[in-house]
Amino acid sequence: MKRLWLGTLLAVTLGLGACSEPPPQIHKAKLFTLGTLVDVSVRHTDRQRAQQAIEIVETELAEVNNRWHAWRDGPLTRINQQLAAGKTAVVDRATYRFIQQAQRLAADSNQLFNPAIGGLVALWGFHSDDRPDGAPPTRMKIDAALQRAPSMADITLTEQSLESINPAVQLDFGAFAKGYAIDRAIERLKAAGIEDAIVNAGGDLRAIGSKGEHPWRIGIRHPQAAGVIASIETSGDESIFTSGNYERFFDYDGKRYHHIIDPRSGYPANGTVSVTVIHHNAATADAAATALFIAGVEQWRQIATQMNIDQVMLIDGNMKAYMTPKMAQRIRFETDPAATEIIGDDT
Ligand code: AMP
Ligand code: MG
Repeated sequence: MKRLWLGTLLAVTLGLGACSEPPPQIHKAKLFTLGTLVDVSVRHTDRQRAQQAIEIVETELAEVNNRWHAWRDGPLTRINQQLAAGKTAVVDRATYRFIQQAQRLAADSNQLFNPAIGGLVALWGFHSDDRPDGAPPTRMKIDAALQRAPSMADITLTEQSLESINPAVQLDFGAFAKGYAIDRAIERLKAAGIEDAIVNAGGDLRAIGSKGEHPWRIGIRHPQAAGVIASIETSGDESIFTSGNYERFFDYDGKRYHHIIDPRSGYPANGTVSVTVIHHNAATADAAATALFIAGVEQWRQIATQMNIDQVMLIDGNMKAYMTPKMAQRIRFETDPAATEIIGDDT
């Protein structure tokens, strides 16, 4: 009788316990790294587990930021010094994997995504924490840099070493490292048992799971006005990256010069104001958004196909939006673009 009592009591307590377990909450944090404000959202029942998850994200992002920062003294600036001197750099496994992925993406983009043009990016003044001011570089200087034709194809990479046959190769992973960092952070969150989260670095993000009953809804910044132009609901595990001419720029003599450099001309890419890419992998989405921005209205379809990207929106200087059918199916405009064109078949 006594034992029965105890059993009943235990069952009641357990039952109550289950009832009183708090519903999952969304825990948020703001971090400043990778040159931008990063919003982290983690949905979990346990505040402490969510807090630990946020710390994991912070550690991963800081690690990638330190290792791959393009102009602050660190591992990448040391590699660049060695490449310029025609020396072989020693690499570890993480560096090998990172550069290998970038090299592959560069090849798939016909070298429009070209992280070897760090010299040109520096010439334009974008290797600085501040906005560049003063005049753009002279055509002579740009032409001299172009003639040296640095490319990721100049690099020979093994699991232990990195060398370049072209001493003009100066690596700048500004178009890719944010994606790579977010991939690492999300992989670590998954390994820690987190199912619902977003790591959003200034509008570029990877989202897993959902917000609970509803999917995560993501805003795409309007390229020429305050606020958002469109929104997208994510599903499962997806990355959304946007490259825009409004992100980093300077004005000189009434003309705007932005930070996405066309490796063919040496000048900021013309004609596009923003490109949004959705892909499972954030590093791929990041590199592709940059490459397709440069590819422009004429070439973006071809380069997207080569890069295995089937969800793209490109907005041109007249605010006309070009999209793949898969993007058109899910994007919701909050502000109407001037016109839209859906390009390609949905295979
Ligand atoms: P994103 O904002 O991802 O489009 O990346 C732009 C950043 O990538 C710039 O600030 C430069 O550091 C670097 N970059 C500029 N042009 C290129 C290019 N053609 N290929 C690779 N990286 C580039
Ligand atoms: Mg990019």
